[in-house]
Amino acid sequence: MPGAATPPFDPYDPLGLDDLLTPEDLAIRDTVRKWAADRVLPHVAEWYERGELPGIRELARELGGIGALGMPLTGYGCAGATAVQYGLACLELEAADSGIRSLVSVQGSLAMYAIHRYGSEEQKQRWLPSMAAGEVIGCFGLTEPDHGSDPAAMRTRAVRDGSDWVLSGRKMWITNGSVAGVAVVWAQTADSPSGIRGFVVPTDTPGFSAPEIHHKWSLRASVTSELVLDDVRLPADAVLPEVGGLRGPLSCLSHARYGIVWGAMGAARSSFEAALDYARTREQFGRPIGGFQLTQAKLADMAVELHKGVLLAHHLGRRMDAGRLRPEQVSFGKLNNVREAIEICRTARTILGANGISLEYPVMRHATNLESVLTYEGTVEMHQLVLGKALTGLDAFRG
Ligand SMILES: Cc1cc2nc3c(=O)[nH]c(=O)nc-3n(C[C@H](O)[C@H](O)[C@H](O)COP(=O)(O)OP(=O)(O)OC[C@H]3O[C@@H](n4cnc5c(N)ncnc54)[C@H](O)[C@@H]3O)c2cc1C
Repeated sequence: MPGAATPPFDPYDPLGLDDLLTPEDLAIRDTVRKWAADRVLPHVAEWYERGELPGIRELARELGGIGALGMPLTGYGCAGATAVQYGLACLELEAADSGIRSLVSVQGSLAMYAIHRYGSEEQKQRWLPSMAAGEVIGCFGLTEPDHGSDPAAMRTRAVRDGSDWVLSGRKMWITNGSVAGVAVVWAQTADSPSGIRGFVVPTDTPGFSAPEIHHKWSLRASVTSELVLDDVRLPADAVLPEVGGLRGPLSCLSHARYGIVWGAMGAARSSFEAALDYARTREQFGRPIGGFQLTQAKLADMAVELHKGVLLAHHLGRRMDAGRLRPEQVSFGKLNNVREAIEICRTARTILGANGISLEYPVMRHATNLESVLTYEGTVEMHQLVLGKALTGLDAFRG
């Protein structure tokens, strides 16, 4: 029972989860939260409405300045933060908008991580410091128009011509594509047994183009592109030397998914807080709607799932910091947290009534953004299949 030293109940941290954080964790979280409050929140509804992310290069440099790019990586200008600290940053960025968190995830956890983990020393020296500073934006090309959940069937090819590699094919739905200075592109090769290899492609290489994809109704404040590889000739040392096979891209995706486990809870937190504030002040039938039992049931259920999700993210972060995090556990976290986050946003939408569909409030924007987050980095169904296989020992991916 509460004693004299028991802190009061905090509606924004009902489980007291901040007690799990170190002073350094809190300082990093506050820095990212303040950056997002100053640089994203005042503008993001307008960016979303216009379907663009203006000033993305400036935003990237500022994110580099606060150490948010390649945050848990070490050396080469990276911050060397813990996995928990990186997760806290993802949560704060996605509380502003999933598009901003996607920019950071793709830069740090996909493009930079691939080069950091599998690149040559020359590739690391050439790209990582400028990517950590946000001077060069990176993208990660795995998905193709006809091959999403099953990347092993990709058609993009890299063939040898003398000592050069020549890449041809198309990638689809690539975050940051049109603004990237460097693309990590995965392609089939005749190499045996490694097959699929990763290539570090400067985007000014002849034959490379990245037309932007328009008409999205989700992640509108984010650049999404097609990558067209039309006989892109690369030197022998463009290949990532330290990995072959699907293991390469999948390990990068696992790293990025970990950030999503936290990030989704940011979108959920923003929507929950909007609903809570609204419920306390909006009056119908002569009293605040937060005084009705049905509204309280919604808020209680939202708070339970939100803070359970944060606790789960923290647990996975500690496992990652201890070098004990398995991909199946990341699937567990992504499946649960994105699914619950979207439910929280949808419930928040109902509490706001008609105002819930307006861009004056963040909830509809978060809910539609999360439709993309639910699909990218492995769909809900893929993560169910990963867990199903781990639980049963039976592989159901191919029916
Ligand atoms: C905004 C956005 C940004 C993105 N950014 C990137 C990026 O930067 N880089 C990148 O490489 N990709 C990116 N993607 C692509 C994303 O990773 C893919 O969309 C995702 O992997 C799913 O592929 P798909 O869309 O081709 O769907 P499909 O694979 O065609 O799946 C369609 C449906 O079928 C289901 N399904 C497929 N196979 C099975 C099965 N065996 N059992 C049961 N159900 C199955 C799926 O779960 C899904 O519900 C992005 C996508 C979006 C929307």
